[in-house]
Order: sequence, then structure tokens, then C-alpha cells
Amino acid sequence: MNRYITLLLLVSMLSASAVPHKLTGTVIGTETSVDYSTGLPSTTVNTRYNAFDGDLSTYFASYDRSSVSETEIPRTWVGLDLGSKHVISKVGWSPRDDGYGEQRVQLGLFEGANSPDFTDAIPIYLIPDKGTIGTISYADVDCSRGFRYVRYLGPDNARCNIAEVEFYGEEGEGDDSHLYTVSNLPTVVIYTTGDFFGRDPVDKVTDYTSSITIISRNDDGTTAVLCQPGTTRLRGNNSMTHPKKPYRIKFDSKQKVLDAPAKAKKWTLINTYGDKTILRNEISFEIARRLEMDYVPYCRLVDVIYNGDYKGTYQLCDQIEINKNRVNITEMEVDDLAGEAITGGYLLEIDAYASQEGEEHYFTSSSGIPVTIKSPDESNDLSLCKSYISTYWNFMEKAVMQTSRASLDQYMDVKSYCKIFLVGELTGNSDTFWSMYVTKERNDALLRFGPVWDYELTFNNDNRTKDYFFNPVAHTEWLFEFDDGNGNHTLKAGTMGDFAKKMLILFHAGELLDVWKNGYEKNNLRASSLNAYVDKLAEEIDQSQKLNFIRWPILSKKVHMNFQALGSYEKEVEFVKSYITTRVDWMNAKLGYKPAGVDGVISDASDELQPKQIFNMQGVLLYQGDEMPELEPGVYIVRQGAFSNKVMITR
Ligand code: CA
Repeated sequence: MNRYITLLLLVSMLSASAVPHKLTGTVIGTETSVDYSTGLPSTTVNTRYNAFDGDLSTYFASYDRSSVSETEIPRTWVGLDLGSKHVISKVGWSPRDDGYGEQRVQLGLFEGANSPDFTDAIPIYLIPDKGTIGTISYADVDCSRGFRYVRYLGPDNARCNIAEVEFYGEEGEGDDSHLYTVSNLPTVVIYTTGDFFGRDPVDKVTDYTSSITIISRNDDGTTAVLCQPGTTRLRGNNSMTHPKKPYRIKFDSKQKVLDAPAKAKKWTLINTYGDKTILRNEISFEIARRLEMDYVPYCRLVDVIYNGDYKGTYQLCDQIEINKNRVNITEMEVDDLAGEAITGGYLLEIDAYASQEGEEHYFTSSSGIPVTIKSPDESNDLSLCKSYISTYWNFMEKAVMQTSRASLDQYMDVKSYCKIFLVGELTGNSDTFWSMYVTKERNDALLRFGPVWDYELTFNNDNRTKDYFFNPVAHTEWLFEFDDGNGNHTLKAGTMGDFAKKMLILFHAGELLDVWKNGYEKNNLRASSLNAYVDKLAEEIDQSQKLNFIRWPILSKKVHMNFQALGSYEKEVEFVKSYITTRVDWMNAKLGYKPAGVDGVISDASDELQPKQIFNMQGVLLYQGDEMPELEPGVYIVRQGAFSNKVMITR
């Protein structure tokens, strides 16, 4: 081989690798198309081959609608078998040329796989925008894994209508150093497998075998990926009825997930449909942490793709169960039926739905509170456990009903109750006395309240509580005592209504205030600090929430218990922040707490209008203005109007 030809070869090899080329392969995908002229299934008209014929006027359209309502039918798609692994660097698409074409590619999904049934698929691109008829749109792909099989799935209910699909890339094994996530959040990808292939779960009883992949970005820009077999099913009560479904994941073996402290099989994907900020649970959990509850469930915002359908933003959370990094109490064995062994640990849930949901293990207390026994759930004789714990519960309840504090202290950790009460009141959780976890550890005399769970109806997001919050001056009672006067208010009549009222009498003077003050001063419950946390979450979720509300266009619609629809995500977040500002002040007033920090400097309404001046202890003016700046920990003098105060910032 002479030098000239070698050089030529080298140049052509270099150019081939520098410019990714359009890939060809065997057309694969859904075989049955629709003949729109008859509405009948076809294998000759509008077939999958039309998506790869280079002609923008021909298209593929499947006979099946490929919709969430067809839970038994796999989603429809078109793709290529590339014959060997390729790393994809670019995808192209063009919508069908008709009145619906443009929107029928928005949230269309490109995927790569190495199993021909795509149960190991991961996303390589999600189309965020509407398409343009008559041209091919392109997007660069940031995914370093090599795939033999690539495909396109249309969005929900679009019959995969597509005029043309293109894939670009190069042959190669690739690696997992850079995988695609649909936003900056981790992406959870679930495919049902085996007998459940392509089917979506419809209840919370049947476990669908699944392949579960969680892709997240490390700080250095590389990717971490967890891919494990397990099962998935629906979860929740009311939340299960929304079109955006909540799921429970159960891995076949215990897994560490993202940065969660627990290693466990069971995890939850919370759907947050009625909470338009998608943040209410996380904000509430943060408040629980700042009030120093023993255990607050792990919770992380993620995007979810289920069987090729982008489902929107979810919260990946702990399952509430006994685990040393979750509810850290003794797990009872099947033969723990006597002596010390039967004294715990118990994980209980006060649950208004208990008797309606066909829960097997529950009891109704003397005063009519339904209590589900979440753990133990397996025993040689659960009736013995039930008998023990229900009797114990009734001792505690009797102390409450007889308003005997001395007796109550033998059965209840009142401080744990104070904390969950304050979280409920600050967040305005109308579910507090309908649904609440309680635990009892072995050889521990006290029933303890917590953890917190399910705070979606908080921050004035419940059509039954809006009047209460909209008249903050007019009301002086706690939220749980509030009655809207129409007789249809259910808080007061909550399953624990009497119980909660008696507890209010049972608190020692200043007991609630002490818990509040401790949280406020040690961990900062100022509205400015809580709202800074809200801002941080809102920034983190921004890319994902935009996709979520394309998938579920409900920002201008009242859903679940909404009494308003503010029309934009930003307005929903602002509403929560203004709630927090008002409510923290209200809580301080109600509890008789004058913060030692800078929020407490205002002496009256006229001073509130004055700018603040902040000095260090050497008398140097550090700040002047209307805002309250973030200050390093230390001691300061804050002057406002005629009023000044020495304050200590602890965090
Ligand atoms: Ca075509």
C-alpha cells in the first residue's frame, strides 16, 4: 500500500468518525397500523416503514391508541435494529402533516436498548416542544451507552403518528459515563416484564414484574445508574384515582437509592397531582426536620417514565416501614407472642380509610379511632398482637379522655405529639387528624407520634380550609378547631376530633411553646428562611415542572381539593410563600412567642414601615434597607424605627 492511499484512507476514516452519519437498519416496531379511510387495522397502509422512507408526506400511525386508558396494551412505536451497538449522537423527527401533527410529537420519546423487547430501554431524548410540519427537527443526544435497538414512541393517545424518524451516530460499545436524564432531576425508568410485559398496573394488590432503572447526575457531570429487577404496583388511597398514578417500587433485593440513607426493597413514587407546586410534601418534611422530629422520610424530586410514557415529576420517597434508617424500632418475629417480645415494635397508622379499605389488621379504639397495624403484618397469631396493642392504645386514650396528664405520661411521649401537632398547624394540614403514624418500641412504655407523611392538602390547598386562612385576623383558634359554619367542614369531626381537643387541655403551660421555640431558634423557622428553602426547591424543579404541566395541563384547572387554580407554576409557588409568611407570624402570636431573632424586632405597625439598620457589636452599620439580609451567625443590633434590639443569629 503506497503512502498516498494510506493517507487517503486515514482522512476518510477521520471524517467518518468526526461527522456522525445517519444510521440505517431493519425497521422494527408495532406491526398493526390504522387505515384512517376505514378506521380499521391494517398491515399495508400507514405502516412503520413510512417513518423511514425519507418522504415527509407519508407517516406511521398505529391502530392502538397507545393511551393510559389502554392499560393492557403495550405502547406503540417505530424503530431500527442497527445490527450492532451504536452510540447515538443525534435524533431527527418530523410530524405527520395534519391538524394534530404538531402536538402529536410533543413529549415523544426516543429510547435505546440492547434487548429487542426494550425492557432494558433508557431514554435518549424527550421532545419538549411541538413539532414543525414539513421539516425535520433535530436534537443532539447526550448519551454515551451503545445500543443495538433504537426507537421512537409517541406521546399519550397519539397513535405514535409520525412522518419521519432519523438516528445518527457511530458503531461502538460506548459506556455509562454520560447517560441522558429528561431534566436536571434523576430519571426513573420502569418497564413491566414477563407476564406483565407492556401492561400498566391498575390496583395496589397485584405486583407487576418490572425492570427499574434510576439515572442521576453526579456533581462532576458524570452519571450514576441503578438498574435492578423488582415489581411495581399502584399505591395510596385517593391519590390512586388521579390520571397521574402513584406507584410503589419493590426491588427483588435491598437497594441503596440515590442519596437515601436506607437500604431497602420498598420505595414510593408520590404523584402530587393536586399540589400544583409539587413541593408541599418536601416543604412540610423540612419543617418536621426543623422541629426535630426523630425520623423524617427521605424524599427526592424525580422524573418518571413508565412503559415508555413520560409521567411527569414525582417524589421518590421512603416506604414507611421498620428499617434502621427509616422507622427505627424492633421488627417483631412471627413467634413474638408473649412476654417482652409482644411489647413491640409496632408501627400503627391512624387511618380514616382503615375500615373501608379492607385492611386486614386494624382495630377501632374505645373512642372510635380506626387504627391500622402496619407492622407486624406476619405472625403466628396476629390476634394476640392486635389484642395487646389495642389494649395498650386504649389505656393511653383513656388517659386523654379523662384528661389525666399524670396517667398520660405513662403511655405517651407527649413531646412527639407536640411536634406533629405543630407541623400540622404551621403547614395547615387538614389531614393531620385523619391520617397519622404512631409507633411503640419493645420495652418502651410510650406511644410515639410520627413520622410525618402525606402533606399535599397543606399551605391552604383544601377547599374546606380556605375560609380559615383567608381570614387570619378573624380566627384565633387552631386549624383543627376551625368550623366554616356550613356544617360541611370535616376537620372538626375528624376521626381524632375529641382526642385532639382533650390533648389541648392536657398540655402543660408553655409546653407547645418550648417545642416551637427550640425549633425556631435552633433550626430557623423564620418565614424568610423557610421561603428561601421553597425558592431553592422551585429552582431545582423548574425544568421538570415545565414538562410535568405539558403532560398534565391542569394549571388552570381545579383538581382534587383545589379551591383555586392560579394558572401558572410561579403563582402557585408565590401563594405558598405568602402563606408561610402569614402563618409563621400567626403561630408566633398564637403561641405567645416573640422571636429573639430579627423577625421579632418590629414593635408595632408603624415601625414595620421603617427601614432596618443592622449594626455589629462594634457599632459598624452593616446594612440598611427594607429587606432582611442573610447574616452570618453572631450577635447584632437591629434598629427599626424607634425600636432596637440585640439579636443572635444561630444559623
Ligand atoms: Ca415518511
